[in-house]
Amino acid sequence: MRKPRGTEQVVSAVSAEAPGEGADSTARVVLRPGRARPLWYGHPWVYANAVHRLEGTAAPGDAVTLVDSDGRFIGRGLWNPRSQIPVRLITRRDEAIDAALISKRIERARAMRARLGLPSKQTTSYRLCNSEGDELPGLVVDVFGDAVVVQVTTLGMWLRRAAIFDAIEAQLAPRTIFEAGSAGFGDVEGFHAAARVARGESRALVSCREDGIELEVDPMSGQKTGMFLDQRPNRVRVGALAKGARVLDLYSYAGGFALQAARGGAAQVTAVDSSARAVARVEAHAALNDLAIKVTEADAFRYLETAPPRSFDLVVVDPPKFARARRDLEAARKGYERLNALALGACAPNAILVTCSCSQNVSQDEFERVLAAAAKAAGREVSIVDRCGTGADHPLPPGFSEGQYLKVLFVYVN
Ligand code: SAH
Repeated sequence: MRKPRGTEQVVSAVSAEAPGEGADSTARVVLRPGRARPLWYGHPWVYANAVHRLEGTAAPGDAVTLVDSDGRFIGRGLWNPRSQIPVRLITRRDEAIDAALISKRIERARAMRARLGLPSKQTTSYRLCNSEGDELPGLVVDVFGDAVVVQVTTLGMWLRRAAIFDAIEAQLAPRTIFEAGSAGFGDVEGFHAAARVARGESRALVSCREDGIELEVDPMSGQKTGMFLDQRPNRVRVGALAKGARVLDLYSYAGGFALQAARGGAAQVTAVDSSARAVARVEAHAALNDLAIKVTEADAFRYLETAPPRSFDLVVVDPPKFARARRDLEAARKGYERLNALALGACAPNAILVTCSCSQNVSQDEFERVLAAAAKAAGREVSIVDRCGTGADHPLPPGFSEGQYLKVLFVYVN
C-alpha cells in the first residue's frame, strides 16, 4: 500500500490553532484518492488518514465542504483537525450549517420520535437526538419528562450550543435544559463543558416515566446524561420474563432492569452496583414505585464469587465498557469471559441470562464467542434465544457500524 503523505503536515500545522466561533467557512477538505467510497454510501465520518488537504481557511469547529480527490462535492460538515475524525458530515446538500439547519434537524428528530410513539403517557424519557443517526454528529439530546439534557461531544457542536438550546426551547419549551459534562470528549476535541443548568429552572432531580415506572433522574451528578436510555426495550423484555423468578440485576445503576422485573411479578429481586449514589437511586425508585428490591453496594465480580450457586432464574449483566480502545480488547475479552462464567454459575437450571456489552470494539461475533467460552468454563449449556441492541430512539445511518455498540444476548441456561 502506498504510504499516505501530507495529511500529518496539514493536520499538525493547523491543530495548534485556537477554536473559531463555529463559522460557516468556504474552505474545502479534499479526500485522498480511493477514500471517498464509504462517504458516498452514507458513512458520516472522515478519518484523519483519509484527508489529503484543506483548501482555504477554516478554524477548528468551522463548517467545511467535503470533496473527493477529483473535487466532486460529497457534503458539508464540521471540521476539527485535532480529532482522529477531522470531518463529521451534517448534510449531503450544498447548504449552510447554521441555526436554521440545526433547528430543522431537531424538528425532524422530534417527528421521528413521534412516529415511534414517543413520548407517550407511559414513557416520557427518551432520546430525542442520537448524534449521527439524526444527522447532528456530536449532539445527544435526552428528554426526561419536562427536562432536556444536552450532551455535546465535538468542538463543532460545542461552539453551536446557543443555537441548539434556542431550537430546543422553541420546539419543546422544557422547564430546564441541562448541559452534561464533556468528560473525555472535551479532552480529545479541545473544549471543556461542566455539568450545569443551561436554561430555565435550576433543580437537581427531574421526574419522568419509563414504561409506566416512575423515575427521578439526576442529570448533573448521575452518569452520562442521567440515565442509560439505550436499554429501555431490553428492560421491558426483562419485565416480561420475570414472573415468579428470582432475579439478579448486576451493574444495576438506578435500577432500570430490577424495577421492571419487580413489577413483572418476580419472586425476589436483588440489585447490585458498586456506586453508592446508584444504590441510593435504586432504593428511592423502589420506594417511589412501591416495589420490593434488595439493594447491595458491591463489586459485581466479588458479589458473584460469594453468591450462592444456581440460585437465580433471571440474571442481568450490564457492565460499563470493558474495551475503551482496540488495545484493551484482549483484557476486555478475558474480563467478559470471567464475568459471564461467574454469572452462569449463579443461574439455576432453566434460567435466562441477559448479558450485555457496550464496548464498540467488541463485535457481536466476538461477544458470542466469549459467551461460548464462559459456558464451557462454567460447565453450562447455553442457547441464545434473542439478540438485541439499542432502542428505536437510537437511530443510525445505514452502514455506520461504529454506532452499533450495544449487544444484548438473551440466553437460555440449563
Ligand atoms: N443496567 C443499568 C445501566 C448500567 S451502567 C440501567 O439499565 O440503567 C453500569 C453500572 O455499573 C454503573 O451504574 C456503575 O456504577 C456500575 N459499576 C461499574 N463498575 C462496577 C463494578 N465493578 N461492580 C458493580 N457495579 C459497577
